[in-house]
Amino acid sequence: MACSDYEKNITSCNCTYPGCPRKGSCCACLRHHLSRNELPACAFSNTVERTWDRSFTKFIESNK
Ligand code: SF4
Repeated sequence: MACSDYEKNITSCNCTYPGCPRKGSCCACLRHHLSRNELPACAFSNTVERTWDRSFTKFIESNK
């Protein structure tokens, strides 16, 4: 199912991971990462996002 807010979402997506089919589809993105005990790119600063470490541990460490 296509995301009806794709155009709006993609303009604010900070994810630098190339080729991801979920980019701009926030519900699919969030579902994917939560199922892996991770958070999506937009939960992180641009600097931390570029590490592609989406773990809760990284989130806590980067928000101390
Ligand atoms: S955060 Fe993950 S699922 Fe979301 S667009 Fe980036 S790589 Fe894809």
